[in-house]
Amino acid sequence: DLEVKQIAQHLPWYGPEYSPHDVPNFYDIAGITENPKVFRKVIDIFVNRYKALGDKGPTRIAGFDARGFIFGPPIAAGLQIPFIMIRKVGKLPGVVATSGEYQTEYSTDESSIRIGSVSREDRVVLIDDLIATGGTALAGIRLVEAFGAEITEFAAIVSLPFMDGVKKIHEFDNGKFKDVS
Ligand code: 5GP
Repeated sequence: DLEVKQIAQHLPWYGPEYSPHDVPNFYDIAGITENPKVFRKVIDIFVNRYKALGDKGPTRIAGFDARGFIFGPPIAAGLQIPFIMIRKVGKLPGVVATSGEYQTEYSTDESSIRIGSVSREDRVVLIDDLIATGGTALAGIRLVEAFGAEITEFAAIVSLPFMDGVKKIHEFDNGKFKDVS
């Protein structure tokens, strides 16, 4: 819809000639975070979406290291529910569960979550800035489900459909999740 198109204008597709980090084709979400009105709008879209679910709404927001930590906390604060960190291994204090290694668009990673941060009573929204191959999303879904929690949804601000991340999630969930864009 129009709102989503307006937000998309703030997401420049950086070719090699523009990239500040020499990473070709890097979708930079700084175009959102450095524009307070647009950032506010993005956060409100998610807060309103989950508030509208009423008592079926999420009880936890889980964000992915690192850019899921930008969007997740203001959404959790808006809903007055806890924010949970899904971090790369070796970075979380306490007793953690780990996902095992998985491939992403650029790297091989392994994620971890603090044991006790989600339980089987929880409904969890997983949030990241972007989904590419879906490796990161799937590792998070598996970690949260391993604790018996229900996944309300996985959400990302940007999807790269040609990298088949959403398809990968559906292969895992047998079509249980609906696509909403
Ligand atoms: P995937 O696991 O789906 O292959 O990759 C998604 C993960 O890598 C996300 O955590 C995301 O932050 C990061 N990522 C991969 N490509 C990009 C990109 O072009 N832009 C941004 N902002 N993040 C990316």
